[in-house]
Amino acid sequence: NRRWILANRPQTEIERDLLTFEDGPLPEPGEGEVLVRNIYLSIDPTHRIWMSDVDQYMEPVAIGDVMRGGTLGVVEVSRAKGLAVGDIVTGQGGWQDYAAVSGKALRRVEPGGLPLAAFMGPLGNIGATAYFGLFEVAKPRPGETVLVSAAAGAVGSLVGQMAKLMGCRVVGIAGSAEKCAWITNELGFDAAVNYRDADLVGAISAACPKGVDVYFDNVGGKILDAALTLININARIAVCGLISTYNEIEQGGGPAMFRNVLMKRARIEGFIVSDYWRRYPEAYAAIGAWLEKGLLKYRMDIRDGLENAPDILKLLFSGAHDGKLLVRVSAE
Ligand code: NDP
Repeated sequence: NRRWILANRPQTEIERDLLTFEDGPLPEPGEGEVLVRNIYLSIDPTHRIWMSDVDQYMEPVAIGDVMRGGTLGVVEVSRAKGLAVGDIVTGQGGWQDYAAVSGKALRRVEPGGLPLAAFMGPLGNIGATAYFGLFEVAKPRPGETVLVSAAAGAVGSLVGQMAKLMGCRVVGIAGSAEKCAWITNELGFDAAVNYRDADLVGAISAACPKGVDVYFDNVGGKILDAALTLININARIAVCGLISTYNEIEQGGGPAMFRNVLMKRARIEGFIVSDYWRRYPEAYAAIGAWLEKGLLKYRMDIRDGLENAPDILKLLFSGAHDGKLLVRVSAE
C-alpha cells in the first residue's frame, strides 16, 4: 500500500520534502469498515490548509499521518452493513492506494452512465460547494450582477453557470486568456476579466457597469479588495476560499477596502460546505438534472500516478490546470 505521509509543515509554498512516499502493508478493515481501492484522489486547495498547524475548520493532519484527501474508489472487502464488494464509494480515503474506512463515512454512488470522475466534481463536494455557497450564502436575485473569482476553476465555473441559470449577469475573474475565453464562449458568462492584467479595478468596473451585487470569493487578497471597491448597496460577499493567501506566512491581513462593507451595508459571510452535508442530496438532485439537460458544463483535469501527487497539488497555486484536479491512483 503506497502512501504519502506528512513529514513537515509547509512554510510558504508546497515543497517535495513536506511529504514522504512509503510502502506499507494493506490496511485491515475492522468491524463496520470496508477496504477501498482508491481510483481517484481529489486534489484540493484545502490540502495546503490541512498541512499547516494553524487554527482551521478541522484538525490539521498530524505529522506522521497519511495525508488526508477525498477519494473515489471501489470496495474490495466489506465488513460493513449495506456495502458490498464492487460498490463505488466516495469518502476520505487519503493519499494512498488502499484505505480501511468506516462504512458510515462513505457515500455509495450509482454512476448511472455518468463518468465516475463526475462524482469528484459537480456531483461531489465541488458541486455542493457551488450550490450552497451561491444559493444559501450569496443569495443572488435575478438581474443582479454576480462576480466570481477563480472562475474557470472547479467551484467557480459551476457558480457562474448556476448564477446564469438564475438570470443574473455573471462576470468571472481568471488568470489566463484561455480561461477567460472558456468561461465566456463555452460556459455563457457575460464577461471575463484576466486578473493578471494591470488595472484590475478598472477592468472589473468595465465588465460590471451596474456594480457588483454578489461577489463569490475563491481567492481573497487583492481580488477581494478590488471587488469590495465596486460593491453596491446591500451587496453579499460569500467567502468560499482564500487561495491567494494559503501560502503566506503571516496570516490575518485584512482587506484594505473593508470600509466599504460599512458604507455599502454589505454582508460578508464565510461557509464550509460540510456544514450542509445533510442537504447534499438536494444539491446533487438539482445538479444532476442540470447536467442531464446540458445546462451545466465542467472539465476534469485527471493526472496519472499517486507518486506525483505533491507536484500535482502545486498546480492549483500556479493555475496550470484546467478544471477539477484529480490524481488517477488506479484503473477504474
Ligand atoms: P480551482 O479549480 O479553482 O483551482 C484553484 C484556482 O485558484 C487556480 O486554478 C487559479 O486559477 C486560482 N489561483 C491560485 N492562486 C491564485 C492567486 N494567488 N490569485 C488568484 N487566483 C489564484 O480550485 P477549487 O475550485 O477546488 O477551489 C476554489 C476555492 O474554493 C479555493 O479557495 C478553495 O479553498 C475553496 N473551497 C472552499 C470550500 C468550502 O467549503 N468553503 C470547498 C471547496 C473549495 P487562475 O488560473 O484563474 O489563477
